[in-house]
Amino acid sequence: MSGLFTAAFLRQIGWSADVYERSAVELIGRGAGITTHPELLEALEKSGAGTSDLGVHVEKRVTLDRAGNVIGEKHLPQILTSWDRLQRLLRATIDEAHYHLGHTFERVDQDGSGVVVHFAGGHSERADLLVGADGIRSGVRAQVAPAIQPVYSGYYIWRGAPNEADLTSRTLESIFPCFAFFLPEQQQVLGYPIAGLNNELRPGRRRYNFIWYRVGDAEKLREMCVDENGRQHDYSVPPPLIRKDLIARMREEAAAIMPPQFLDCLHNMQPFFTPIYDFSTPRLVFDRVALVGDAAASARPHMGFGMAKAGSDAQALGEGLGSHDDIDQGLAAYNEIRQPIGARIVQHGRKLGTHLGVNLETDEDRVMWRQLQDYRAMMDRIAEPGFLAAYR
Ligand SMILES: Cc1cc2nc3c(=O)[nH]c(=O)nc-3n(C[C@H](O)[C@H](O)[C@H](O)COP(=O)(O)OP(=O)(O)OC[C@H]3O[C@@H](n4cnc5c(N)ncnc54)[C@H](O)[C@@H]3O)c2cc1C
Repeated sequence: MSGLFTAAFLRQIGWSADVYERSAVELIGRGAGITTHPELLEALEKSGAGTSDLGVHVEKRVTLDRAGNVIGEKHLPQILTSWDRLQRLLRATIDEAHYHLGHTFERVDQDGSGVVVHFAGGHSERADLLVGADGIRSGVRAQVAPAIQPVYSGYYIWRGAPNEADLTSRTLESIFPCFAFFLPEQQQVLGYPIAGLNNELRPGRRRYNFIWYRVGDAEKLREMCVDENGRQHDYSVPPPLIRKDLIARMREEAAAIMPPQFLDCLHNMQPFFTPIYDFSTPRLVFDRVALVGDAAASARPHMGFGMAKAGSDAQALGEGLGSHDDIDQGLAAYNEIRQPIGARIVQHGRKLGTHLGVNLETDEDRVMWRQLQDYRAMMDRIAEPGFLAAYR
């Protein structure tokens, strides 16, 4: 997504930009819900992607107790969208001739005035600039800053997206129209409505994005990453290969603690898990290689801000290059503006992550942990629109 954003913003300043994607087929149906922020809406509008039929509007947040009663409520309008919808809006901004599926980046050579980018299979391209928009496990970053590695947070999430049509009337009435929370000790269960498949926004055809944060150390994660066929994976397991015993154990644990509405969601979805990592890079520019989006810095998802950061990084890169005749000066301007912001977002994610009580190292961590034990503070701060403004 940050690659598509970047190409759109570079085109606007008169550059010719091509996107090379490793997947051989169009990317669809990945991930699920995405909370939106003013920065994301701005980047979508300015990039030309637009915000039409972006997602489902909610008016409020609620917190449930174990019995499913609403114990807290907060008015906070927000648009909840989905990975698919954003991908389609951004994909439509690029001409077919400039979007190249089936190209896996392997290596970049630099000579001071440009780059030669080598792809698997022997293909290579010369350009003025390579933008690494290849995600948290970026191969581009691995070459220019190999010491920078994502750090495991000590927790992971179970997630999934049940269809609205499969949920009980109690679930539909009490949590479906809301951003909902259930907050047992050292856990978080969150949910919000998103579009159905093919961006269906009509009532009855939408989905509910379900997320359950669980604490688990690196050893536990390694055990979870053994798939149904006994194969060990490095970071996570493709959903169809997640072990059945793991899912059965997770369902049992949920039944022991969760309100009926969230259990209803869990019963009606195909669950998969995602370990939570984060990191930031001290530099975003390495001569004629620049990093954007998750390749540049990736925060824990408590702010739901990854897409907004991807869009704003790309926007700032376009603005830096567009306002300088010299490419290197334009890149330096981009680095100066976005590197500290990326680092700040990562720090903010760690602050919110203290709610889970893992690796609390400083007094500040412990103070934050205590504040976040109050569900009202969580409703105020999780995926809070405008949180970055407080730092300006
Ligand atoms: C659990 C979870 C919940 C989240 N919730 C939210 C949310 O609510 N709101 C939000 O805004 N963000 C959220 N995010 C973050 C968001 O998903 C990411 O920030 C966003 O996807 C970053 O986009 P990206 O384009 O930088 O990287 P990616 O989406 O990872 O895309 C990288 C692309 O590069 C391609 N690629 C990788 N390697 C190569 C290679 N060698 N050669 C060619 N191509 C390659 C990949 O195939 C992929 O298409 C969440 C993340 C997680 C883990």
